[in-house]
Amino acid sequence: MNCPCGLAKTYEDCCGVFHRGDAEAPSAELLMRSRYSAFAMKNGEYLRETTDPQTTHLFDHEAQDKWAEQATFSRLEILKAVENGNKATVEFKAHYRMDDQDHVHHEVSKFRQQAGSWYFRQGAEVKS
Ligand SMILES: [Zn+2]
Repeated sequence: MNCPCGLAKTYEDCCGVFHRGDAEAPSAELLMRSRYSAFAMKNGEYLRETTDPQTTHLFDHEAQDKWAEQATFSRLEILKAVENGNKATVEFKAHYRMDDQDHVHHEVSKFRQQAGSWYFRQGAEVKS
């Protein structure tokens, strides 16, 4: 089975490495992929651990867990990933199914690297 993030690797060799804590995601794009996989696998703890300590208070983590609980994540599309020093931006579309309907969540996420670790900082939904 391919990893939920869409890379042609098994979950164990891909995002599983980061979820288990064997290594940290070496780029913002891989952190983004591992966070998508965490949503797909309903791993709210990983989502909290990889949110920037500076912005984590802005998020409703319970609502996030509930969304992950109710949605079935089918596919991640990375549209653009740009790293600039310790900052990065990743634009993506997350395809998921909820309430018997297909949904697409299109977002531009900002990331920050601190002491070698990448963190999700904030996201802005792109309305199409
Ligand atoms: Zn993966």
